[in-house]
Parts: sequence; structure tokens; C-alpha cells
Amino acid sequence: MSKSLLCPCEDVTSSEVEHAISKGFCDIESVKRFTGFGTGMCQGKQCLNAVARLLEEKSPKKPTPAQLMPFTPRPPLFPTEYGYWASASFDPERAPSGGVPAGIELGPDSLRPAGPVKSKAKIVIIGGGIMGLALAWNLTEQGETDVVVIEKGYLCAGASGRNGGGIRAQWGTPTLISLAQRSIELMKRFARDMSINVWFRQGGYLFLAKSDEVVKKIERGAALHNQHGVPTQIITADAAREIVPQLTMKGVRAAAWNPKDAVIFPWPFMWGYAQQAQKRGVQVETFTDVKGFELSSGKITKVITDRGEIACETVVLAAGAWSPEIAKLAGVHLPNEPHRHEICSSEPLKPFLGPLVSVLDSGLYFSQSMRGEIVGGMGDPREGAALNLGSTSRFLTRYSQALTEQLPQTGRVKILRQWSGPYDVTPDNSPILGKTPKLENLLQMSGFVGHGFMMAPAVAERMAKWMATGESDELFERFTLSRFAEGRMEREDMIIG
Ligand SMILES: Cc1cc2nc3c(=O)[nH]c(=O)nc-3n(C[C@H](O)[C@H](O)[C@H](O)COP(=O)(O)OP(=O)(O)OC[C@H]3O[C@@H](n4cnc5c(N)ncnc54)[C@H](O)[C@@H]3O)c2cc1C
Repeated sequence: MSKSLLCPCEDVTSSEVEHAISKGFCDIESVKRFTGFGTGMCQGKQCLNAVARLLEEKSPKKPTPAQLMPFTPRPPLFPTEYGYWASASFDPERAPSGGVPAGIELGPDSLRPAGPVKSKAKIVIIGGGIMGLALAWNLTEQGETDVVVIEKGYLCAGASGRNGGGIRAQWGTPTLISLAQRSIELMKRFARDMSINVWFRQGGYLFLAKSDEVVKKIERGAALHNQHGVPTQIITADAAREIVPQLTMKGVRAAAWNPKDAVIFPWPFMWGYAQQAQKRGVQVETFTDVKGFELSSGKITKVITDRGEIACETVVLAAGAWSPEIAKLAGVHLPNEPHRHEICSSEPLKPFLGPLVSVLDSGLYFSQSMRGEIVGGMGDPREGAALNLGSTSRFLTRYSQALTEQLPQTGRVKILRQWSGPYDVTPDNSPILGKTPKLENLLQMSGFVGHGFMMAPAVAERMAKWMATGESDELFERFTLSRFAEGRMEREDMIIG
């Protein structure tokens, strides 16, 4: 094992890069995702060439120029202080501009499997995000292993690889509270069960309320939480400052505090579910695009991909914000709308911030990762519906103003990078699950807005059981697509971001 550091910012050694190459990550972009190299203060300036050289020396096949392309630069161009952005101005009336269509790049050749997909499988899952992969693994727990997961990009390409990693049981409906409680249990033991570290940290969630209306909302929420075994307390601004002494609490009238909520690092969940499912026979086909369906007598008989067709009995649509465009290929209309949400991360700091803090009135949220970074975001009410990615200086300004108002010490801290991902928003902020009217072997698993990561372990566990045993489960009867036509909304209002 060589301990020589290739990436001094993130402590990535040459052995770790060689390990990534041996696992098949044979291009700069994927080695970065696997090892974290190039994500620190220098943003790859010191280590990129050394990693490219190792790739040339150690890859089983000589890398193509595309594989050695420096990774996508993330704005800001160089590390810039929150204080700098907070001092800028933005037009609150204007809609955010700037972005790129959220098409998933097919990526370097090395990761795109060469041959065709298998021609037949019992279950095809479309989408290799947390939903699709968690479901695949849970199906194997139920004895179903003839399963193929089709993913257009790499495993963290969608919202699952772009989110804030917040995990909370503080929800506005009993169903989401109990799903989150179960997910927290499963996430706590995920590292042990799946042999992969997920940096689970139970530092709590602290919701700050500035207006009477929001104070009433958290009070109602706490009463509901307590009825369902979640120990949320409503506390004063002074008591909240005892939990995070650095907070100014400017304008804050009360706070909701649940010490059992948590944060995690999202990526290893995808890798863990995928690896363990593959060990049991599931095929996970990355860089494979679903192009259409063959239908006969009110059923999907084949899923058509750019690597061939798969005859199947059941199809699960778990493609997050991309689900409506895929459903359309089968003649099905989904009411989900994609909304870009921007997020950013700072240079690492000594641990000081226990909970994830969120100002409910504005949607500001921030937490400290186990690597010390402040990771946070804030939704923009002016952001229209579109499958749009990309980053804006407007976001950095709005977010930095809101962050430094509550945490002025961060004024001199530098933002290292920003990115965005799509919220998959439904008319009532609740997911779409279960059967599709007139196409019963197409099962829905989308519409998780900005909270699908924390719901996935529990929802996938129940969905796999429901699929494999045929036992009824109210989740897949209440949250169906047909509820919109029937005027049965399942409204959830504890949405942040
Ligand atoms: C900025 C941000 C912050 C968030 N913060 C949190 C948080 O703190 N906690 C939380 O629980 N949730 C959070 N979320 C929400 C969470 O990330 C999502 O709800 C969740 O990841 C959705 O998972 P998914 O598997 O449904 O979708 P995705 O992860 O988007 O996966 C869908 C996959 O389908 C693939 N796909 C698309 N088209 C095709 C095709 N034609 N063929 C094959 N595959 C295709 C995509 O490439 C993608 O990988 C956040 C989201 C964002 C954007």
C-alpha cells in the first residue's frame, strides 16, 4: 500500500486511486467521484495531472483522451467568501436564469457496457437513483433476483447524488413520520449491513421559525410528532442558541428541535445497495438509456433501450424528475414537475455545528458534513418548472445573505463549489406509488420532491414486500397516480429547500 498523497486537500493516496482503477473507474471524472480527489481547497489543481498519469499507467486499456478530460469545473471559479457573495445584490422579482438542460451525459466509453442488455427479466427498474437501487436490493431480500436496473448515466447522476443528505422524522403527516422513522433505523445499520461507510451522524434538526404562522406550524408539527414517538420539542430562541451558540437567532421567535434527526453522505448508499444487489444476481446497467416500450393488451411487454430490448413481466418507473418524460413513452401522463434546486459546499472547518439548521420561513438549510464542510441550500420561489441544471450567482447571493444573517462567523469562510439537482414535485408534495391505471404492470415510484433520499430505505422495503407477496399495503393504495383524477390529495407541507 502506497501512502503517498496524490490529493493533499482530501488525503487521497495513490493506493486509493489504484483501487478505484481496479474497480473499473478508468476516467478522471469517475475516479473523482469514487475517491473524492480534487474536491478540496485547490479543486484539483495540485492532483489532476498525477491522477491522469496513474490512469495511463494502471488502466487495463490505454485511456482515451475523453477519459483523461479534466472533470467538470464547478463554480465559483475560485474559492470565494460567503461575505463577498452576501454583499452582492440581486433582483428579487426576476426569475433565476442560467442553467443547462438536465440531460444526463452518457459519459466516457469505459463505463458504458459494450454488449447488449439481457433479453428477458422478470422485473425491470428504470432509474439507478436511491429509489431504484434500494428497491432492487430489497427485492433480493424477498427472493426476487431476476431484476435489471437501467440507469442512463452513472449511479449518482440524478437527485440522489446531488442532495443535502438531511434525514429527519419531523414531518407533517403520520405516514411520512413513520416512513422516516423506519428509514433512520435502516440508515443507522446500513454501514454494517452493506459493508460501506455512509458517514451517518445523528446531530438533530433545528427548525427556526420567524413568523407567527410558522411558529404555529412547528407547534402543530411537534404535537403530531410526539403522538408518533418523535421527541420534537418547541424551544425558545435562547434555548436554540444553547444548541448552536454561533447562531444570531435574528428574527427567530421559536424553534423545533429533534436531537434524533441526522445527516448522511448520499453516494455510498447508491454504491452499497448496487453492490449488494449485484452480488445476489441483479444486473445494474449504467450508461443505458430507456427509449420506449412495447405494449400489448394493456401491458408493457418489453422495455426498449439503446442497448437492446428486455422482455419483462413488471416495470418500475423510478426515474425521479425524469419519470414524466419516460411515462410519456408509454402513453401515461404524470403530473410531476421538475424544479431546479441549487446547493453549495464550503471549505472544511473544525466540527462546530451539531444539527442541520433550517429557517422554515425562507427555506434556508445548512449542516456540517463529517468532512467539515458547510453544505446548504435555499429554494428560490422564482424558479419555474423545467428540467434545468446549472448554477447561478443569484443563488450564492441569496443563500450567503441568509446564512451570514444567522451565522456571521461564516463571512470569511470560502465557498468551494456549487451544483444543483431537480426536485421531483407533485401537486400535493407526496410521492406517486403503486399501479398505473390501464397499464397495471407499470409500477410508479417517483414524486419524492426534496425528501426522497430519507424516504427510500423504508419505501423500498415496503414496496419490495408488496410486489413479491401481493399482500395489500395502504401506501400503494393511497399514494396512487389515480388519486389526482379522483381528487384525493395527500398534502405534505413540511417542505424545505
Ligand atoms: C439540491 C437537493 C437537495 C436535496 N436534499 C435532500 C435531503 O436533504 N434529504 C432527502 O431525503 N432528499 C433530498 N433531496 C431529494 C432527493 O435527492 C430525491 O428525492 C431523491 O434522490 C430521488 O431519488 P430517485 O431515485 O427518485 O431519483 P434520482 O436520484 O433523480 O434518480 C433517477 C435516475 O433516473 C435516471 N434516468 C433518467 N432518464 C433515464 C432514462 N431515459 N433511462 C434510464 N435512466 C434514466 C437518471 O439518470 C437518474 O439517475 C434533495 C434534492 C436536491 C436536488
